[in-house]
Amino acid sequence: MKETKNKRLLEQKKRLYETFKRSLRISDNVLKAFMKVPREEFVPKRLIEYSYIDEPLPIGEMATISAISMSLMLCEYAELKEGDLVLEVGTGSGYQAALLAEIVCEKNPDGSIREGQSKKVYTIEISSELYEYALSNLKRTCYLKCVDAKCGDGTLGWPDKTIKFDAIIITAAGSKVPEPLLDQLKVKGRLIMPYGGGWIQTLIRIKKIDEGRYEREYLEDVRFVPLRGKYGEQ
Ligand code: SAH
Repeated sequence: MKETKNKRLLEQKKRLYETFKRSLRISDNVLKAFMKVPREEFVPKRLIEYSYIDEPLPIGEMATISAISMSLMLCEYAELKEGDLVLEVGTGSGYQAALLAEIVCEKNPDGSIREGQSKKVYTIEISSELYEYALSNLKRTCYLKCVDAKCGDGTLGWPDKTIKFDAIIITAAGSKVPEPLLDQLKVKGRLIMPYGGGWIQTLIRIKKIDEGRYEREYLEDVRFVPLRGKYGEQ
């Protein structure tokens, strides 16, 4: 795994860690994932100096890598544990997928992600340019040993329908919950999505209580780019 080596970036990263820790909104395993993933490997080169500023950054194709606190809260709301299978819709830069990998993938005693395990993180990106970008970022940082990335419309779910997920995280906003994604959620599984078609949306969490039975919670106001595709906005 690559780590943050640049001294100035590492100092900023540690300061942010302390701020997040004090806020008490983010649990230790999510904070640990934050410290492990080198965000500077997922932001465009010209923006590297802003890697540890808690703001969204443009990554091209009208998309943004979310603010760090948002990426961490998405992990938090998904209530993840090691071994969970998770689907992300909207790979973007690949940063969220890397965080998810640090949480759900099996580790060696030294904390590094174990080679040769079955994939735990599945991520789909609709833009072919961003898919290529994310793939190269995830490859360079060695996350592909536990992350499977595809290019396509994520509102249709993961193409292999035999896989059911403990958690599904949609990182683009839509005003309907994509039916194929609800179908690919395990019983007790959680789906997190920015819900709404306007400038500001509400982050919601849907829990599958039983086949065909769901519970919906409203979490916080957020701002994400629109979800495209068959069950999206455009
Ligand atoms: N999670 C990303 C940021 C995502 S931005 C990160 O950590 O960097 C939202 C992304 O969703 C954009 O890249 C956009 O192209 C993608 N997207 C929008 N609609 C989609 C769809 N139907 N299927 C897959 N990806 C989609």
